[in-house]
Amino acid sequence: MSRIGVQGLLDAMPGVSYLVDRRARIVAVGALNWRNFAAENEGAALANPASVVGRDLFSMIDGEDVRQSYDGMLRRLLLGETSPLRFTYRCDSAVTRRLMLMSMSAVFRRDRPAGVLFQSLTLDQTTRPALPLFGAVNVRQALKAQRSWPIVRVCSFCARVLAADGRDWIDAEDYYRTGGSSMRIRVSHGICPECVAAGPEEASFPKWRSPPSPAAHPG
Ligand SMILES: [Zn+2]
Repeated sequence: MSRIGVQGLLDAMPGVSYLVDRRARIVAVGALNWRNFAAENEGAALANPASVVGRDLFSMIDGEDVRQSYDGMLRRLLLGETSPLRFTYRCDSAVTRRLMLMSMSAVFRRDRPAGVLFQSLTLDQTTRPALPLFGAVNVRQALKAQRSWPIVRVCSFCARVLAADGRDWIDAEDYYRTGGSSMRIRVSHGICPECVAAGPEEASFPKWRSPPSPAAHPG
């Protein structure tokens, strides 16, 4: 077993898989699936797995409370305080509504937690007319010239959007249906109160509403 390289294992795993060390540095990435997923999501900047290895995982997560949530899960795994974590989350692109299953497991070296293995599987995906919200520039990327654009808050786990009333979290489709502006916005990722209350790490699968998939469930 020890002669099988980590890289070979990651390459063989379904879904998007990567391994981080105790300091949350990405040490290996399942290369082929990573490339495919980045290509599907216009993630050109991160499309090359070699450019991701060595990076801080948290530098790739948008939104302070989202980073904190993952940091908490990582820490509990590395301290041996929890068994592997599994939760569903939404990972949409502009034209794809996508439900994913995240698994996070501690990996051990000489009986001590040495890192965490991430695996994201696509459970369901449907194509839809483009929702620019999911392709919009985020607050961190925004250029100086765009600072006057309004900020729209999106939950990183359920992909719902904070409505104009500043209270209700609504589906992105409803955001547009109720007159949400398409073009000149910046997106700020966070966690909605419902997802905070449930805590993704406590979720029993399936947690979030599945996208409607009439083909799979006729009638
Ligand atoms: Zn949410």
